Amino acid sequence: MTGTKPETNGPFRLGLLFRPSYLLPRLRSISSAGDAFSRAAGLARYCCSGLGSAAYGLRGYCLRAGRRLKPCADEARALSASARSAVLAPFRRLAGLRRERELGRAVPGFRASPERAPVPDPPPPSARGPRPDVTLSWNIHVACNYDCPYCWFHGRWGEFAGRAVSLPPEEWMAHWDRFNDRHGKAEIHIAGGEPFVYPRFPELLSRLSRRNTVYVITNLAWDPAAAGGLDPEKVGFSASYHCAAAGPAEAFAGKVCRLRSAGFSTAVSIVAYPPYLPGLPGMVDAFMSRGINPVVQPFRGEWRGGRYPEAYSPAEKRLVAWLSRGGYLSAYPESARRRASDEAAARGGGEDFGREYLLAPFRTRGLPCAAGRDYGRLQFNGDMIRCSQGGYVGNFLEPDFGMSPGARPCPFRTCECVNEVVYVKGGPYGPR
Ligand code: SF4
Ligand code: SF4
Repeated sequence: MTGTKPETNGPFRLGLLFRPSYLLPRLRSISSAGDAFSRAAGLARYCCSGLGSAAYGLRGYCLRAGRRLKPCADEARALSASARSAVLAPFRRLAGLRRERELGRAVPGFRASPERAPVPDPPPPSARGPRPDVTLSWNIHVACNYDCPYCWFHGRWGEFAGRAVSLPPEEWMAHWDRFNDRHGKAEIHIAGGEPFVYPRFPELLSRLSRRNTVYVITNLAWDPAAAGGLDPEKVGFSASYHCAAAGPAEAFAGKVCRLRSAGFSTAVSIVAYPPYLPGLPGMVDAFMSRGINPVVQPFRGEWRGGRYPEAYSPAEKRLVAWLSRGGYLSAYPESARRRASDEAAARGGGEDFGREYLLAPFRTRGLPCAAGRDYGRLQFNGDMIRCSQGGYVGNFLEPDFGMSPGARPCPFRTCECVNEVVYVKGGPYGPR
């Protein structure tokens, strides 16, 4: 820089620019266009840094004010929520009464549609030979192409996905062959998530069913042609109808009929999720008209702050019990009723016991239970547990893995699963 810079006393402030005694000597000392530009740039930098400090100051002020205001804001929010709920309460009660009336009319108003080319269920693999000594539920992985609001994994998929063991069919078969050598043939119920989303699943299913009978619990989002290479004597399906994702019940029933026509036993189940209740009788009728008697399962879980099935209203309870117990069957011809009872008998007595337990649960703690010995739950991480509530049996992938040697008392207050309570003393597969 050329020229003499005027002396300044103290740090620069913007106000100095309005003092001729400060400004004029500095303007006179400008030696070139470059010098002028560099001084203007310095001034701009000064202003920007001042603005930045002001912004930080303002932010700090806002944060401090926000902290002081938060309790008031929380209180105001709580007040507004309770005022809102007080205003809405009569409307909710009115809507509740209307829904109760509507659900109450569902049973007397139920009309059966005429049958359209019904396809009876072929005998399930379990009815085609002696019952195996061991039954396993295998949660093969934590992934699904749906995300049902009542799914156990809803909102938690990411939490579990990283812990799943993912092996190719040949590696799984090495572990299953070792299991079969030790325990003989097993009945394996594969669930997930959705098993058909597992890589190379049809191949794994085909290999697994050479020494075992296998049932796949599926949402049937796949084309039934994918079952083409499987043996209906060894493989059966339990198709869960999830109306929000799967589309109309008629289309779903059409897929079930295709599997049945190919020789595969295929049962259908529907969860009695509270928002679906008004539409449930219509769905049941759509299945019945194709010769499919669906199993309606009472919903277990939370919805709008209520714990179900306890939180069902009286009309909901009546409707769910009527649907679960097949009360609608009396509206159908004798041939449909006989078909339904033959199919239930072919699937065994466990279904009735489990359904009645769910409608009227009893305390299971302390009762001898065969879960752990005759039944186990193979988790997606390779652990075998006694039942859905826990009870470590061992790691299925370890070379010395084996089921427990005997029945043991149930350590849980109640049983959480209709398919597992059948192993408690008094159940169809419980210790004698
Ligand atoms: S289809 Fe089954 S596994 Fe998939 S989200 Fe629905 S309930 Fe869960
Ligand atoms: S009664 Fe149910 S909860 Fe208890 S151990 Fe048996 S399967 Fe598990």
